Amino acid sequence: MQNFSITSPSNLPAAAAAGQNSDTAFIAGGTDMMQLLKNNVITPSKLIDLEKLSLSEIKSENGVLRLGAMATMADVAAHPVVRQNWPAISRALLLSASPQVRNMGTMGGNLLQRTRCLYFRDTGFACNKRAPGSGCPAIPGDSRDLAILGTSPHCIATHPSDLPVALMALDAELELLTPEGTTRRMSLSKFYRLPGTTPHIESNLEAGQIITAVILADQAIGRLSTYLKVRDRTSFAFALVSAAVALDIEDGLIKNARVALGGVGTMPWRVHQVELALCGQKPSDRVFELATLRIGEGAQTTEMNAFKVKLAQRTVVRALQAISA
Ligand code: SF4
Repeated sequence: MQNFSITSPSNLPAAAAAGQNSDTAFIAGGTDMMQLLKNNVITPSKLIDLEKLSLSEIKSENGVLRLGAMATMADVAAHPVVRQNWPAISRALLLSASPQVRNMGTMGGNLLQRTRCLYFRDTGFACNKRAPGSGCPAIPGDSRDLAILGTSPHCIATHPSDLPVALMALDAELELLTPEGTTRRMSLSKFYRLPGTTPHIESNLEAGQIITAVILADQAIGRLSTYLKVRDRTSFAFALVSAAVALDIEDGLIKNARVALGGVGTMPWRVHQVELALCGQKPSDRVFELATLRIGEGAQTTEMNAFKVKLAQRTVVRALQAISA
């Protein structure tokens, strides 16, 4: 691990100003950052610790939920308002990592977790995401865990986190602080970037900008929601496929539907075509099966990960059955 210095600013403007230097990195819970540093995947000379900033509040007011960026995964998962009004978020968090990691991991850090592509994490290999222009050994190599949606010839890395899949389904917004001291909102759907020719640029977060909170406003769609994760073992494993689903059912018909997928996209992947196919229908296994046939439209699979299309269809059907039973 390369040597680095660490500072702990006590206020947000100081942290944002310090973060503008390209040789610096923010650290929150550190659960992913420490692995990246130890493996020399990233080598900043300076870390800016966000721990002293007052960003861990979880607040529900007038139907709007505000999750501070430094709120821990464990605290958010256990919060009674989250469990009651946005159960998909609580489930996504509880199915993430381990209790120890959830006690340290934060909202902001989880949104920015880097891919688990094994070539990215091992500096013995080329990787366009870690070293732009060096190549992508995953495409002809071990791609079983990697993405089938949103890929490019330069990178097929999967976004690894569970939480953003639920947040994507529930139309979350992020509150950002700019180095100039202004606050702005960005919808999560506009936050992540597809790899294209620049897989090393993963989000639209600019230098020095800090995520200060996650905002959820649409309580009506959150109540009937869940998150289902399929993985190789039932604990401490990343998703092969996961699904966050939410339904608003009125007079026996689906008035509004939300479906997002994890484990299959280069970013948390909303499947609007499935949502459209569900709207106006009476919930049933047949309706769910027909709607989910549209998952996989536009998918670019390899021999090793083609199984994810069918697995994603079945995962969404199971999740929809669970909340409509
Ligand atoms: Fe690197 Fe992306 Fe290729 Fe993995 S899939 S080796 S992260 S370029």
